Amino acid sequence: MAAALGDPVRHALESVLDDVRDRTDGAVADYIPELAKVDPDRLGAALASTHGIVHEAGDVEAEFTIQSVSKPFVFALAVDALGLAEVTKHVDLEPSGEPFNAISLDEASGRPRNPMINAGAIVMTSLMAGDTADAKFDAVRAGIERFAGRDLRVDEDVYSSEASTGDRNRALAYLTRSAGTLGSAVDVATLAYFRQCSISVNARDLAIMAATFATGGVNPVTRERVISEDAARWTTAVMTSCGMYDESGDWMVRVGLPAKSGVGGGIAAVQPGQFGIGTFSPRLDARGNSVRGVATLELLSQRHGLHMLQHHGAPLSPIASLTRDDADGGETVAVLRGEILFSEAEEVLTRLAPLVGDHGCLVLDFTAVTRVAAGSRKIFSALPETMGSLADGRPRVEVRDPDGVLAAPVG
Ligand code: GLU
Repeated sequence: MAAALGDPVRHALESVLDDVRDRTDGAVADYIPELAKVDPDRLGAALASTHGIVHEAGDVEAEFTIQSVSKPFVFALAVDALGLAEVTKHVDLEPSGEPFNAISLDEASGRPRNPMINAGAIVMTSLMAGDTADAKFDAVRAGIERFAGRDLRVDEDVYSSEASTGDRNRALAYLTRSAGTLGSAVDVATLAYFRQCSISVNARDLAIMAATFATGGVNPVTRERVISEDAARWTTAVMTSCGMYDESGDWMVRVGLPAKSGVGGGIAAVQPGQFGIGTFSPRLDARGNSVRGVATLELLSQRHGLHMLQHHGAPLSPIASLTRDDADGGETVAVLRGEILFSEAEEVLTRLAPLVGDHGCLVLDFTAVTRVAAGSRKIFSALPETMGSLADGRPRVEVRDPDGVLAAPVG
């Protein structure tokens, strides 16, 4: 669903694009000859919320090749299908601090440093289902289409250009093959990988794809579960430490959003639980990141406090009221509210524990609680049993939970 005209989030995006539009430094990638033909002035950004609303500004329909932005999505498909233990036999998860095409293999294990650099990404593509390059690419494309929520085409010109100049990537594949970490023949992996990099997307697609990580693996627009919650969390973690080539550490300090960039000029950024952002601007800095894409995300993050480690101030107390009723043998009622994550559970239990049994029964009223985190549910639901009963046989703790938030399934 696209947001309506007059949408304030769209205005926020437009205002940032206006502020970065004049930057013409950097250069379009030309090591893949066909990439040099792109219009360098294109500039677009889209934000997709976890509710499935998409806010768009600038050239959001302009298509470009996904390139390395495909890497986290293919890693996600691999860990979703094979599990983390199997995938990490083939690739490490450590930042390399090196350029995207570095020969970055662990000496002892032969594993590429991480799945966000080419060596690791080619290995991930090699792990896709199927025995041929076509079959592996079909699995990649089908997966990426589920993240984007639409059919995607391959830019055949970029593919041919990349396939005819991709010897360094072939060399990386041979090295991983000889180290025993590549999951297929070299040609199968590299041809599928070149096609993967040549998938055509726009900034809107990248926003929805990133938002699918933000929801824990469900495409917020199509509502389809694409990968498991675990796979979404693991992938977002790898994007946090390794997503922006050898600029990842600096990026995390300045912008603070797990992200992945590609030499086609795209960046996909995730704010877990909240939204995904896609940007497109083709001129790249020396490290291969889109100059205006980086500037857009940096400004957005600063202006709107989007850094994932932003301190938002003391949270609202989860205890809305505490009343004592002397009638009927004495009862203390604690009305709880909002979301009970770990720290809220800690507050409730620590503040209220001294009241248990002190004045009759302590009633924990969860009627106004919207959610109890899975990890905190057990403690609450076990309370009445562990606390035992009063002299008159009534429980020391009574839980009122008409909506069953303590029993809600995980997720
Ligand atoms: N297809 C590109 C390559 O392998 C992807 C590089 C990138 O976007 O970082 O050279």
